[in-house]
Amino acid sequence: MRQWGDRHAVPSGPPLELMHRDCGHISHDVMTCSACGKPIGPKDVQALPGPGAAEPPADRRLADAVLDQGLQNALALLSAGQQR
Ligand SMILES: [Zn+2]
Repeated sequence: MRQWGDRHAVPSGPPLELMHRDCGHISHDVMTCSACGKPIGPKDVQALPGPGAAEPPADRRLADAVLDQGLQNALALLSAGQQR
């Protein structure tokens, strides 16, 4: 049973999850919603504490900061590509 536990136990889930505001599902893709497939931007997602979040207030601020920076960079790359 020790080995089974070692292989299957997940110490903590993802520290944050992204909820697609339009459909309310948790999305695992930053640029498109993994639930409904729609493209999503910074205003379309909401950072929520995931199963691995120890302290929601602190993780929420970190999640928001990471999400904001990550999406800003991703969208900057996308818009740069589209302007070619
Ligand atoms: Zn969705």
